[in-house]
Amino acid sequence: MSLRKIIQEAEKRREVLRITDEVSPKYEVACLMREFDDGPILVFDRVEGYNMKVIANVCGSRGRLAYALGINEMELHSKLYSSINSPTPPDVASSAPSQEVIEEPDLTILPILTHFEKDKGPYITSGVVYARNREDQVENVSIHRLQVLDDSTLAIRLVPRHLYRIWMSAKERRENLEVAISLGLHPAVYLAAASSPPYGVNEYHIANSLMDGKLKLAKCLKTECFVPAEAEIVIEGEISFEKEAMEGPFVDILGTYDIERLQPKVNVKTITHRKECLYQAILPSGIEHKLLMGLPREAVIHEAVSRVVPYVKDVVLTSGGGGWLHALISIRKQKEGDGKNALLAAFAAHPSLKHAIVVDDDIDIHDLSAVEWAVATRFQADEDLIVIGKARGSSLDPSSDQERLLTSKLGLDATRPLDKPIEKFERARIPLSSRVKKLVEKLRK
Ligand code: MN
Repeated sequence: MSLRKIIQEAEKRREVLRITDEVSPKYEVACLMREFDDGPILVFDRVEGYNMKVIANVCGSRGRLAYALGINEMELHSKLYSSINSPTPPDVASSAPSQEVIEEPDLTILPILTHFEKDKGPYITSGVVYARNREDQVENVSIHRLQVLDDSTLAIRLVPRHLYRIWMSAKERRENLEVAISLGLHPAVYLAAASSPPYGVNEYHIANSLMDGKLKLAKCLKTECFVPAEAEIVIEGEISFEKEAMEGPFVDILGTYDIERLQPKVNVKTITHRKECLYQAILPSGIEHKLLMGLPREAVIHEAVSRVVPYVKDVVLTSGGGGWLHALISIRKQKEGDGKNALLAAFAAHPSLKHAIVVDDDIDIHDLSAVEWAVATRFQADEDLIVIGKARGSSLDPSSDQERLLTSKLGLDATRPLDKPIEKFERARIPLSSRVKKLVEKLRK
């Protein structure tokens, strides 16, 4: 299933909002994305100065992501975890819709958005970057923000992970690194590119497992790269081994401005796209950004905690924590201490995790008020609190030591103690007769 097919299907389910009035790619599209964050898929039919439509919020809910993967919401973690652990190579197609139209290396044809007030300028936020290390043949696929410098040059933010390592290897040989940046993709490709398998795993293979073997790749035209055959837009180019530019400030997942740094330049060689292509945008710090980053981590935490306690009901990286720093975990506790072990496993599984709360499985962790109630009635700070000072943390949290990446971690075990009667912790209920149930339904109408 291609992205446009997903949008067509969502339109049938009335999950698409079309904006037919003209709006500017500078602030106005982003402003509407913010307004309808947590809402439907957005299709901007008329973007001032451009022929292409802009689409947003395709991956903006757990339900939509599950639907695109052909599973239900409860299966998201297990499907992600099994796909991360059993990657399968996709087929390479002989012809690709993403190469139907071949353009000059001119970025001005794309309606690239300017999002926040203090952002350096327009940024591509949905770019999935493929590269291959010529030294060890390792292929890597990851998401990177790309700042527009001029008509044919971008700056790419390389956090010190796999693409950075591949670029450093090219830099040592004094070679530019060929990359293919694809935009407008099946959600599985975004989820796979946001997951963090070990170096050596090609994230396209994870996407293919997520899509039950249906991902098709295409060979690029001007570079030795591969892209999803059904991508809406492909930018082929190379990351310079020597040319750098000041990148940032730009808003990151927590909704604060990330600082300005020297980052490598990308020289665009060609742009190809589908006929009547759609430009996909992702709002930094929007629900979609948090879900794409957070869901693969939830899956990994879920699995890690399952190894140390008998039953894990659910794991959520909350929106308020940027889908990154705060975890809620519900477990069925069997032995005293299970809660604390669950916290330790969660911190080990997701190094950026800062605060975590573990609750019993009668608490709905998607309901923050219910979690607060569990803390209010089942938690004692002198016994149930873990504080770990100066551990490795996220580079994004302004309250941490951002130079040395050190942060304090806090875990709350809000599971009820097993040595007190269970009735004391029961949430009181009012019996509901079938007559009153019907009456409530009538009154609600
Ligand atoms: Mn990787």
